[in-house]
Amino acid sequence: LFLTFEGGDGSGKSTQSALLTEWLAAGGRTVVHSREPGGTELGLELREIILHRRGYIAPRAEALLYAADRAHNIATVVRPALERGDIVIQDRYLDSSVAYQGAGRVLDADEVREVSLWATERLLPDLTILLDLDIEAGRARLDDARTRYDRLEAEAAEFHHRVREAYLALAAAEPARFLVLDAALPIDELAARIRERVSDLLA
Ligand code: C5P
Repeated sequence: LFLTFEGGDGSGKSTQSALLTEWLAAGGRTVVHSREPGGTELGLELREIILHRRGYIAPRAEALLYAADRAHNIATVVRPALERGDIVIQDRYLDSSVAYQGAGRVLDADEVREVSLWATERLLPDLTILLDLDIEAGRARLDDARTRYDRLEAEAAEFHHRVREAYLALAAAEPARFLVLDAALPIDELAARIRERVSDLLA
């Protein structure tokens, strides 16, 4: 079972994916938690390059760097785990690229998606949890967290609006794969809704 978390910056993906991982592990499941960019050693180096030079990398180069990170993570971490029968929970996957590199950097969404599908030999998640959040609310959360990167500050608000709209359009186009949740809900309530949907998948 391959589960991915998506959403804008500050939407709570890492909190919810950690809670889901703990809950599944407590239930006796073997769970591998991963993230993009940076799920592998190579990925961490790519993450540094990409985030450090954000805004200065040509959009197609950025898309390829994310795709390289993804290809390596899927080949060396995710596929082996799935083949062992483990559950894989990942923060961000190909929908991030369609939203950020596609809508955000204004590349063709289908082309960005195709690059990702090539990179991963067409691995799609069984379920994608989209934590949808107002841009300003996300910004406020990141300010609270005093994160290492200047993140939202580095991009215009317009960029993040395009990302959010792209995510919602992706979810609308594939309703069976997506669970869309209002990320402004309390942490416990979000976690409960996610557990409910995952339980159905495991039944
Ligand atoms: O999810 P995480 O906080 O680790 O992402 C790091 C940064 O990379 C975020 O600011 C996110 O906006 C950006 N990102 C991106 N394109 C992706 C994945 C992440 O611009 N495909």
